[in-house]
Amino acid sequence: MDSKQFRECGKAVIDMLADYYDNIRNRNVLPSLDPGYLIKSAPENAPEQPEEWENVLKDFSETVMPGLTHWQSPQFHAYYPTGGSYASTVGSLLCDGIAVMGFTWIASPACTELEVITMNWLGKLLGLPEEFLNCSAGPGGGIIQGSASEATLVGLLAAKDKMIRRLLENDPDADEDLLKTKFVAYTSDQCNSSVEKAGVLGSMKMRLLKSDSNCKLRGETLKKAFEEDKAQGLIPCYVIANVGTTGTCAYDPLYELGPVCKEENVWLHVDAAYAGAACVCLEYRHIIKGVEFADSFDVNVHKWLLVNFDCSAMWVKDSYDLINAFDVQRIYLDDVKSEVRVPDYRHWQMPLGRRFRSLKLWTVLKMYGAEGLRSHIRNHISLAQHFVKLVRADERFVVEPEPTMGLVCFRLKNGDKLTKQLLENLTAAKEVFMVACTYRSRYVIRFVICSRFTTKEDIEVSWNIIAREANRLVCPSVI
Ligand code: PLP
Repeated sequence: MDSKQFRECGKAVIDMLADYYDNIRNRNVLPSLDPGYLIKSAPENAPEQPEEWENVLKDFSETVMPGLTHWQSPQFHAYYPTGGSYASTVGSLLCDGIAVMGFTWIASPACTELEVITMNWLGKLLGLPEEFLNCSAGPGGGIIQGSASEATLVGLLAAKDKMIRRLLENDPDADEDLLKTKFVAYTSDQCNSSVEKAGVLGSMKMRLLKSDSNCKLRGETLKKAFEEDKAQGLIPCYVIANVGTTGTCAYDPLYELGPVCKEENVWLHVDAAYAGAACVCLEYRHIIKGVEFADSFDVNVHKWLLVNFDCSAMWVKDSYDLINAFDVQRIYLDDVKSEVRVPDYRHWQMPLGRRFRSLKLWTVLKMYGAEGLRSHIRNHISLAQHFVKLVRADERFVVEPEPTMGLVCFRLKNGDKLTKQLLENLTAAKEVFMVACTYRSRYVIRFVICSRFTTKEDIEVSWNIIAREANRLVCPSVI
């Protein structure tokens, strides 16, 4: 492809995407296909000869497009949102188009510096304490990781390194390998799978502590777990607090967990992958009360802040905790020397290579402005409240727990079996997509506002489909 073809093809792709979004309501959210649909029909080998771009786009429309689950459809209510916006796509296009790497400052100065700037902007928008920001006098700062999973693992590995250093300082003859086997991480039984996985990947025992009846991990429970483990000669090392659990969007009280961690010098990481985004609105900042106790904090900008995957914003209070843990030198990777505090981000993350991810964050922050982001969050929350009203008006259903953010959990009063059947029937019909979780041992359906296109009318469309399927399973509502 030469530059002339790139211009033509690029314009055609932009038109194709704009058409896709303009007509997204014409498609079922779930595809009607069996597993292997593409694998069975695709050629066994890559083409020997180049194909015309027109043919490639045609092939995309005919074979790839039918196999999509439409995450940006207003009838997509599963998991949590994956962010997307035209503004972000423009940033992604620029990032791919210029194709630079940013592992050291000199590898591409703008790549590092724009990340510092956007992470300071976003940190301030979320109301994070100054110590987390690169613009403060201290060693704190923000980095864009690929995912919340990576952020949790990076925090765990840094916590392990920090604890080892501290223990060896007190007892230089201690057996480092033996000490590492005694380290324990703690989180709640409501944590995302990625949190538990960080323990597996980082070789640290991870205890999933029992949450209270509101799905929160309480300070008392954590304190007791520390005491139990210390009595057995184990060493508490890392705690992951969940601000907005994946199941029911519960918030662990940082103001309770923080002092417990501080007392034992244990690293506190906050996984605020979804709900943390709401902190751009002053009225929701209470969910991170106590964040000043945290050592690291992560929010998936690629979930609820209109930036396309991957863009997970992680802040640390002391960047030297990461640098000490991950610094590996080579002659061809010269660190930056500067009066201005400029990070060499390769020491803050797992891979060496790094994309210019801040470009899409920058285009979104500039093209939406803080007000645009706030109104996006508030709009999703008010749409969720509209859904709550519709469900509560139908006597066959219960909404519980009390909804928060853009998530509403509900179930049929007639029992878990019927609720499960309802979800299975809805998935089979392919018009709305939701997933389940459990709350107080009951099976509940999670309904999340995900698409940036969703309107009140779309919520009513989704609800009517749910009510229609409920009518087939249980008596129609008398209301
Ligand atoms: N934490 C929470 C609370 C989540 O809901 C999710 C994903 O939905 C994750 C972490 C994992 O995010 P990622 O896919 O960015 O690793």
